[in-house]
Amino acid sequence: MMHWPDGQRAALSLSYDDGLAHHVDTVAPALEAAGLRGTFYVPIHGSDLAARPAAWRRLAQAGHELGNHTVFHPCRREPADAFGWLSPAYDLADYRPEQLRAEVQVANQALQLVDGQHRRSFGHTCCDIAIGRGADAQPIGPLIADLVVAGRGAHTERIVQPAATVDPMNLGCCSGDGCQAADLERLVAATLACGGWAILMMHGVGAGHHPLFIDTAAHAALLALLAAQRDTLWVAPVATVAQHLWSR
Ligand SMILES: [Zn+2]
Repeated sequence: MMHWPDGQRAALSLSYDDGLAHHVDTVAPALEAAGLRGTFYVPIHGSDLAARPAAWRRLAQAGHELGNHTVFHPCRREPADAFGWLSPAYDLADYRPEQLRAEVQVANQALQLVDGQHRRSFGHTCCDIAIGRGADAQPIGPLIADLVVAGRGAHTERIVQPAATVDPMNLGCCSGDGCQAADLERLVAATLACGGWAILMMHGVGAGHHPLFIDTAAHAALLALLAAQRDTLWVAPVATVAQHLWSR
């Protein structure tokens, strides 16, 4: 059984990946207008953070989480021809444990310079949860569990269930990219019905910002639905919900 604050029946976290400029310019303000706060998983290298740290500091000061999304956004290049955007130098399958740990530590330090926070969650890049190959593969979670408060983990399309054994470093998530308003209404209803914690992963909002995106109208409908459900559904950043659960 998960116990939620203020008599609420379930929890939901909104997460937005890859540190896009429009996260600062339009997405975070839309959340704030609806009284909501989210988690923004921001890689240090090649994201909008390096170009506009002051803007991201304001986003964090408004109550959003800057989540750790590594420095270089390494992923398992499987199949390699689908990862033309990612240099083979950043293939997670070739990462060594100390290399990944150092990268997560440096990302923490860079984000701390922006937001002053010491505790944040980790958004597994490409939802990959292991480094190495074959018999040498090992899960990322235990390697970095002392560096972050929780890991969003694999793309499971499952709500974190109150009765299940929860792996804090591989919580699992549902994708909002490509969803329509009705899909998201079903997710919210299922979350309330089970009393669990839904972690929604999104990239762009509307076309033109990222190859993966949620339709603008569907996103607006989701925010309106969540605002209307505020007495029953707790919407908070991943680190906030995790710290609430782990403190109990
Ligand atoms: Zn990403």
